[in-house]
Amino acid sequence: NKSSKELTLVKQEQLILGTFGSISAYSNSEKEGNEAISKAYDRIKEIENLMSTSIEGSDVYNMNKKAGVESIAVNPSTMEVLLEGLEYSSITKEAFNIGLGSLIELWGIGKDWQKVPTSEEIADAKKHIDLNKLEVSKENNTAFIKDPKILVDLGGIAKGYAVDESIRILKENGIKSGVVNLGGDVYALGTKTDGSKWRIGINNPEIGSSNSIARISISDKSVVTSGDYERYFIENGVRYHHIIDPKTGIPANNGLVSVTIVSDKSIDGDVLSTASFILGLDEGLKLIESRPGVEGLLITKDRQVYVSSGLKDAVEILDNNFKIVN
Ligand code: FAD
Repeated sequence: NKSSKELTLVKQEQLILGTFGSISAYSNSEKEGNEAISKAYDRIKEIENLMSTSIEGSDVYNMNKKAGVESIAVNPSTMEVLLEGLEYSSITKEAFNIGLGSLIELWGIGKDWQKVPTSEEIADAKKHIDLNKLEVSKENNTAFIKDPKILVDLGGIAKGYAVDESIRILKENGIKSGVVNLGGDVYALGTKTDGSKWRIGINNPEIGSSNSIARISISDKSVVTSGDYERYFIENGVRYHHIIDPKTGIPANNGLVSVTIVSDKSIDGDVLSTASFILGLDEGLKLIESRPGVEGLLITKDRQVYVSSGLKDAVEILDNNFKIVN
């Protein structure tokens, strides 16, 4: 094995999971690095083929198609994500709900049919998000949606799972240092070759990806951000984005514009960023502080930044329009 200073940095970018994927890895050779990264992408593609709502024959597609009809067999990976999703539903007091597909489809944010639904349509869709009607058997790897109108949507959790799995594959293939980024769900493995931590930028929620307002120094951690600035449309001056509050059936609108979660596993960060965004500043911070090993950074519309207790030393503000206030 080469000393860390002699390692080669290899990078591959791909459109995957309907988003932009980027994997970089330090490796002994370009060939080894590229092979490891290709295997990681293969695993992500596998997860997409199991958990996409739109790919015909995926587990989620089949579950939704057979809703109200019969139980179907699912892959153990899908089962793992379903079980995590169900557990998080109770942890987040149902702010996070993997059975929200009827509402997500109705709003269609980012899709050709996106529109503000009528209140009757919202009320009707809200009748079909009850997770008690989702029956899963871990022993048999089967799942059954008992209400024909409930749709499972793993868009708020499967990307995090895919990041964790890609990191597992990179490690299995000898990679000790690198960064995976699947559309804003990031994991920084190990350290940079000089032994320093990775610095992950936090987007300016008013502009989007090109501009960091802060950075977080980490090693062997996931950094996931949920915001209202990436998938949305504006109608009559109101911004309708893709994070939907199951209580109201409409996109969360509580003064938060971005929530970043730092955690050991990206699946936890993926869920908790979405859930905290829905719960709002106070409840969101409480949830973050209550989870062991989980930290967070929340940004409000008026550019105030709130940082959980264990993260303060790791955060550096780069844009002075944004201020840490707690
Ligand atoms: P997050 O905040 O992490 O999650 C928001 C997403 O979670 C919403 O888009 C919705 O799906 C879901 N959600 C909203 N409210 C709630 C709630 N209260 N509780 C639980 N979940 C909620 N996008 C495409 O455009 N084309 C594709 O082909 C495509 N395929 C995909 C396949 C898979 C397997 C996955 C996981 C995602 C796919 N996506 C696709 C979606 C795309 O990657 C999303 O942008 C992403 O999943 C949402 O992540 P985020 O970080 O933007 O937002």
